[in-house]
Amino acid sequence: MIDPILPTYNRVNLVFERGEGAWLITKDGDRYLDFTAGIAVNVLGHAHPHLVAALTEQAGKLWHLSNVFRIEGGERLAERLIAATFADTVFFTNSGAEALECSIKMARRYHYVTGTPERTRIIAFNGAFHGRTLATIAAAGNPKYMEGFGPSMPGFDHVPFGDIAAVKAAIGPETGAILIEPVQGEGGVRGASPAFLRELRALCDENGLLLILDEVQCGVGRTGKLFAHEWAGITPDIMAVAKGIGGGFPVGACLATEAAAKGMTVGTHGSTYGGNPLAMAVANAVLDVVTEEGFIARVQQVSGRLRQRLAELQDRHPSVIAEVRGEGLLLGLRTVVPNTDLIAAMREEHVLSVGASDNVVRLLPPLIIGEAEIDAAFAGIDAACTKIEARLKAATSEGAAA
Ligand SMILES: *Cc1c(COP(=O)(O)O)cnc(C)c1O
Repeated sequence: MIDPILPTYNRVNLVFERGEGAWLITKDGDRYLDFTAGIAVNVLGHAHPHLVAALTEQAGKLWHLSNVFRIEGGERLAERLIAATFADTVFFTNSGAEALECSIKMARRYHYVTGTPERTRIIAFNGAFHGRTLATIAAAGNPKYMEGFGPSMPGFDHVPFGDIAAVKAAIGPETGAILIEPVQGEGGVRGASPAFLRELRALCDENGLLLILDEVQCGVGRTGKLFAHEWAGITPDIMAVAKGIGGGFPVGACLATEAAAKGMTVGTHGSTYGGNPLAMAVANAVLDVVTEEGFIARVQQVSGRLRQRLAELQDRHPSVIAEVRGEGLLLGLRTVVPNTDLIAAMREEHVLSVGASDNVVRLLPPLIIGEAEIDAAFAGIDAACTKIEARLKAATSEGAAA
């Protein structure tokens, strides 16, 4: 019999009742260190008092308002995002995939209104993840997510991540934009080099293309900058944001320059819930904290410390951990054993993590972690690796005996 919930997820059999900062707590009071943060969503951890206050205050006033009316929280949030980034204008959505849908529509529409309507194609990268809608699975081009969902949305060309020659070769008369995650999250915590991002920016400028960044996972302080592209010293024309911006409330946003947004006039796009007052109240509260003096600098400091401890673990357990990678608090352990083995062993030690492609264990703690959480993570991963090594050893001696 089919599960009452459509069985599209492979769920861990744990039920959490509440959270406190970086910790998740079951009904029985078991505490787990949450290094998933809802997959880079809960940037301020669980039950952050400032977010709880913002949401409950707004809930007592006004939950929802159609976009046929002005929404003050959204106006304020847009102005603040504009002040903090390259952008001149913002469209609010409920999710990352919708922020990308808006980005893709905007790029096509830009060329439509600027006299190059044939430029509908977008160059994207192998290993990418852009969401689960029909357009975003086509944009990422991952066969695993497209199988059986054809016909696939046309208009995307895929090249190897980091391969500038392949990007150049893929640019044709119908190319309108380049779409990339500065750090591929689902793709295995693979960062594009700053030099590669600068080359993409230059290619876009030379060829009249729009640069679209997907910062749904790597944005909002995650890499130790407010947005990851700041490491490369470039700016995009369009950027999709979600996950961390809502701190756990469903919010996404498509940010753009005035030029790139040229075609998005009245009636061209919309969303019932996008920019909803509850969402705007929480996202403004997230921004209050993340843009506080010293917050992002502290992320860099904490991530340096965590990375150092992870490097120590790699030295101690070379038969389990092959590589530590990533930027800021978007970190990955590429494992020698199946990544799912380490994830399960860590969970037994009450440290939660998620997998990624390339046999990587992703570590995505809330940005508010401190020394105590780093120590707990170190101890948990250390114990998990020791257990796996013992199993490997037992298996080898069994093999030798046989
Ligand atoms: C999660 C994610 C998305 C999709 O976001 P949803 O909110 O699940 O639609 C898109 N791009 C990247 C890089 C992501 O990590």
